Amino acid sequence: MKYITKYKSPNYNSRNNSKIKLIIIHYTALKNTEEAISHLCKKEKKVSSHYLISQKGKVYKMVDDKFRAWHAGIAFWQDYNDINSISIGIELDYSPRGKNNKFTSKMISSLQKLIIRIQKKYKICKNNILAHSDIAPFRKKDPGKNFPWKSLSESQIILNFKNLKKSDKQIIEHWFNKYNFKTKKQVIIFILSFIGYDTRKVNKNFKLYNDLIKSYGFRYLNEKDKVNNKLIYNALIKHLFNFLLTKN
Ligand SMILES: [Zn+2]
Repeated sequence: MKYITKYKSPNYNSRNNSKIKLIIIHYTALKNTEEAISHLCKKEKKVSSHYLISQKGKVYKMVDDKFRAWHAGIAFWQDYNDINSISIGIELDYSPRGKNNKFTSKMISSLQKLIIRIQKKYKICKNNILAHSDIAPFRKKDPGKNFPWKSLSESQIILNFKNLKKSDKQIIEHWFNKYNFKTKKQVIIFILSFIGYDTRKVNKNFKLYNDLIKSYGFRYLNEKDKVNNKLIYNALIKHLFNFLLTKN
């Protein structure tokens, strides 16, 4: 895979020796690749990403991996607040309301190749290939509910959840009982936090809780528009089990 390197963004600074641990996937919500390049390379915009992938699958490299690009904003994952310092940002030329409202197969194929390359180079674990909405669920939706996570899990690029045996589910539920988790909501919040999500304020704030499970639901459930505690709960038990069993 060849990168197009003729457009450089001035919007970056030093990672301060932080290791690269995450890959963050975004969409631009702009009209096309030209607009995206211009936006991400303009100094006054103060935003950037390491890579941009066009609808045709061309990969633009605008910030060197070794620098801290500015794509995450206020965000959180696994107790990290400065996500830009520990991540690689990939923008997709996609806008939900534009002509570029498709995740084309060429785009996704390039994305997969790029992720594999970055993942190998920096030994990034599969649980840390994330949506912008995973690290900023209360303010960001990208790459959105139509993003084909399934093709990434089927290619084993991200965790591919095996179904649980009834007995496995019982073991996990027994454990939660033993440690006095009284409601499904408590279990949901615990697992979300364990995986990496920001749950610091969701206990007491129903709107934030709802935003968080909606964001999780868009990514992990087929049920696209509904938030259903039971479905989320079942998905998370399965997620936890697979997460614990997967080393990378
Ligand atoms: Zn984004």
